[in-house]
Amino acid sequence: MCGVFGIWRHPEAANLSYLGLHALQHRGQESAGVVSNDGGILHAMRSMGHVRKIFTREALGHLPGDIAIGHVRYTTAGASIAKNIQPLWAQTQLGTIAVAHNGNLVNEEALRARLEADGAIFSSQSDTEVILQLMARSRAPDFVSQLMEALGQIRGAYSLVLTTEDKLIAVRDPHGFRPLVLGRLPSYPGTWIVASETSAFDLLEATRVRDLEPGEILVIDGQGLTSRRMAPAPRRLCVFEHVYFARPDSLLDGQSVYEARIAMGEQLAVEHPVDADAVIPVPDSGVVAAMGYARRSGIPFEMGLIRNHYVGRTFIEPSDSIRHFGVRLKLNAVPHLLHDKRVIVVDDSLVRGTTSRKIVRLIRQAGAREVHVRISSPPVSGPCYYGIDTPTRAELVASTQSVDQIRAAIEADSLGYLSPDGLLRAVQADPQRTFCDACFTGEYPVPIDAEPTPRQLRLIEL
Ligand code: AMP
Repeated sequence: MCGVFGIWRHPEAANLSYLGLHALQHRGQESAGVVSNDGGILHAMRSMGHVRKIFTREALGHLPGDIAIGHVRYTTAGASIAKNIQPLWAQTQLGTIAVAHNGNLVNEEALRARLEADGAIFSSQSDTEVILQLMARSRAPDFVSQLMEALGQIRGAYSLVLTTEDKLIAVRDPHGFRPLVLGRLPSYPGTWIVASETSAFDLLEATRVRDLEPGEILVIDGQGLTSRRMAPAPRRLCVFEHVYFARPDSLLDGQSVYEARIAMGEQLAVEHPVDADAVIPVPDSGVVAAMGYARRSGIPFEMGLIRNHYVGRTFIEPSDSIRHFGVRLKLNAVPHLLHDKRVIVVDDSLVRGTTSRKIVRLIRQAGAREVHVRISSPPVSGPCYYGIDTPTRAELVASTQSVDQIRAAIEADSLGYLSPDGLLRAVQADPQRTFCDACFTGEYPVPIDAEPTPRQLRLIEL
């Protein structure tokens, strides 16, 4: 869960990166960074916190150059500490290089152990540093060949944006787990942009050219654009991007997230109908699917829960007691609307189940007579190893409990999940588009050797 951005040849590369990251902020709120490239000298600004706080006018003034890459981070590998903030950069025998990564490598531990045995010193816990170390150890004569060698050794999910002294490079892993899209600025014909989602283009008034192909290595330099391909593998865009993670105004591999969510809601209404007076979403994640549900069922859509936008997502807060509190901080029910009503509440996913129980209680306290929970994705029964921040298997309520047990635990009158087939029907407008749905089905496209065991951190920087 991260967002990446890159821009080639624009006089305000850092400013545009800042705007692009702002439009990708939903992909990671822990830290952000931009590395600009001024004629081969890299300038970095990386910090914990939100994009708008980090990139003040003054900070942006320290990022000269007409090439830049950027990153917003949400920890999925390594701890949430300053050393892990991206982009990472390194000085090697060929010059300087910086990289921003969205995704998770599944063989990071084995590679790191091998590199360390060989004398490598790591300065972060980030799996992205493994890529830099592999490149630095390569004997290949140029950065692109070094990168190709490194890519031949890593497995898992990665959408990468790199800058070397005279290139911008974008890479999408062979399955295309994470999105990555190429665009350009009509007002600056020589400028190219890559970003995790098209929402970044809209803010910049850039146009989408195309998505990177899974397995594509796109090199942008003074010669123009050149693409190389890794060995082909089945296309497996993460379906959870459509369910929850991406913005509804984005296109993923050309497909509208908004339309996919409407279709999920419609399909959910077909699979789990119930008599009720109102369909209400859990804002913001359930809004579009709830509209689809209301549309198909003919039951009125109402905003029965109001979200306070001045708190972040509650999911990553560490202890259970804070999480419980967090839901109340974020959501409140509208009693006038809910009093004595039979309510269908729609959310995009149910992970631990703690949020749903809190929401059901909130709605009942506001006077609702019946509360029917509908989830626009199947039960999350397996952790994600490819970059979505899901808890361990033991914390996933659906890994040990049946739907009826979960219904009882969240204190709902009924509970209905979208079926795996129904989800695929909703997102698979084009049969060429195939997805990774391992968190729902347990079918992991890239095998996992063992549950990753994050290393104890022995150097702590304040
Ligand atoms: P819970 O069932 O209490 O774990 O929370 C489910 C809620 O968290 C749903 O409203 C989702 O929109 C949201 N959610 C699902 N996956 C994630 C994630 N990886 N990070 C943050 N929030 C998530």
